Amino acid sequence: MSEDCIFCKIVNGELSCYKIWEDEDFLAFLDINPVSRGHVLVIPKRHYENISDCDDETLGKLNVVCKKIGLMLKDKLGATGVNIVNASGKDAQQSVFHLHYHVVARYPEDGMDLWFHGKEKFGNQLEEIAKKICGE
Ligand code: AMP
Ligand code: ZN
Repeated sequence: MSEDCIFCKIVNGELSCYKIWEDEDFLAFLDINPVSRGHVLVIPKRHYENISDCDDETLGKLNVVCKKIGLMLKDKLGATGVNIVNASGKDAQQSVFHLHYHVVARYPEDGMDLWFHGKEKFGNQLEEIAKKICGE
């Protein structure tokens, strides 16, 4: 539990939410500002800031919960696709600093465009970038 963390407050019942699913360690609830008909946030009940400080076992289980929620969106809402998105860090546009994955229902021709669009200036640096990441 982290003081002043809104998701910790949701976990301990200080703030309300539209709960979709929970078990002992994880909670899934509707995003208050949804981007589609079926936008769910999946969180570990324990406070981690983002993926960097979360242990591998919890992260693995979190992915399995996201899969479960995605299947619920398909079964119950008729979603025909699902995006699972995480922002880790302020510069990655994380705004709530309690680890969460967005599980977003998608529908045919729903008008959403998730993907980043390639930038040519990085396209000609692929060899250099790959070497840097691999530490050669
Ligand atoms: P991110 O920008 O990836 O950190 O996502 C944070 C998400 O939390 C945003 O999509 C917000 O709409 C959502 N959010 C913020 N406060 C609440 C709340 N009290 N209940 C449900 N969702 C919330
Ligand atoms: Zn928290």
